[in-house]
Amino acid sequence: MTLTEKLLARASGKASVQAGDNIWVKADVLMTHDVCGPGTIGVFKREFGKTAKVWDKQRVVIIPDHYIFTADSMSNRNVDILRDFVREQGLPYFYDVIDDPNGSWKFDASKGNTKRQYGSNYAGVCHAALPAKGHTRPGEVLFGTDSHTCMAGAFNEFATGIGNTDAGFVMGTGKLLIKVPETMRFRLEGKLQPGVMAKDVILHCIGEIGFDGATYRAMQFDGPGIATLSMDDRMTIANMAIEAGGKNAIFEFDARTAEYVDARTRLNGTKSSYEPVEVDRDQKFVYETVIDLSKLEPTVACHPDPGQRKTAKQMNGMKLDRAYVGSCTGGKTSDFIEVARVLRGHKVSIDTFGVPATPEIVHELQTTRWGNETIWQILENAGVRMTENAGCSACLGGPLDTFGRMNQGGLKCISATNRNFPGRMGSKESEVYLASPATVAASAITGRVTDPREYLTN
Ligand code: SF4
Repeated sequence: MTLTEKLLARASGKASVQAGDNIWVKADVLMTHDVCGPGTIGVFKREFGKTAKVWDKQRVVIIPDHYIFTADSMSNRNVDILRDFVREQGLPYFYDVIDDPNGSWKFDASKGNTKRQYGSNYAGVCHAALPAKGHTRPGEVLFGTDSHTCMAGAFNEFATGIGNTDAGFVMGTGKLLIKVPETMRFRLEGKLQPGVMAKDVILHCIGEIGFDGATYRAMQFDGPGIATLSMDDRMTIANMAIEAGGKNAIFEFDARTAEYVDARTRLNGTKSSYEPVEVDRDQKFVYETVIDLSKLEPTVACHPDPGQRKTAKQMNGMKLDRAYVGSCTGGKTSDFIEVARVLRGHKVSIDTFGVPATPEIVHELQTTRWGNETIWQILENAGVRMTENAGCSACLGGPLDTFGRMNQGGLKCISATNRNFPGRMGSKESEVYLASPATVAASAITGRVTDPREYLTN
């Protein structure tokens, strides 16, 4: 069996399963957020009754992150609906924007959108917050009401996005009927060259198979190249499986996975036991490819979908209007460090926005020093507009007052985010070009799509 098949067999209590089988799978964790949480709660109450209790309080994780730092009152209200539900159900894992469990959330637009406006429990973008807060464990099943839930496949688990109706059902029963996906294998060999990042790996893969090339399939990443990738790298790659239509992504388990998960579960006091799934000798794949990481180049996914692959060099210096670094995919500490490495000693020439994925990342960037400057200062001194309000921000467009949103048509933005269908970051007439944080940084300096290796001197 493939990694996904082994994991799903275990989660369904069967000795073995194969692609195409329909099986009932037990959920280890159900995650929802401010956009889908109210709808999920509505389905749950409608189907299980007004006084129903969730199947397991310890396994429901609620993370507001999407439409948070906006004066839009309906968006603010969504967070209040989550808080009311958490109080009613006594749920321990709610990463609220405010500290008062009886309060209500209101964004104060008069304070601007770059200074911190959240309390001590806020955790930022759900997919970055889940592992950081100790909710991702090898061998487990994670369902989330968000398509990029597949990011947790980096931790050797089956993680997939589901709709509100399915999530309402999981909330009441703790299980879900799943068709076992076929598996596509991406065997990684070699090591990335300087200036080439994990984002380039996944943009390369999606370019190979197209933006629907993994529809309802598992994308399995294994091979000796895995050992050279950090957990941040693996998360970036797994995050974008859905951009090829993938049901899930899954990585092999190794000592690095264990080190991360053990540290995070210990730090947060979450469940620390887990059972990884190991690679079998006998695996059936519907597609197999070998990728030599050392041969990859800085890559761009052009408007209007993530499968429109070109190398940065092939873009012939296409002119840009703005640059954006952020999201679950591209807003991690390691992403901003790469941006700082490129930008240090330079100035951006186009509007450039930086949105860390979590408050913890904000803290790391503001306290990590390179000489006399923090990473945060290096970025700001280069002209990047950094916000402390970690969250999804303009990755998903959002209300008109969202930081970094493309409100104007005709703008071309190079972005470290993960999706570039028309209208994704605002105006339907704007264009988004997906690239690594390093490529975004180099392009922000020149105002044109630029290979970051031209700027890597230190
Ligand atoms: S940062 Fe973007 S991709 Fe990630 S959860 Fe938020 S909106 Fe979705």
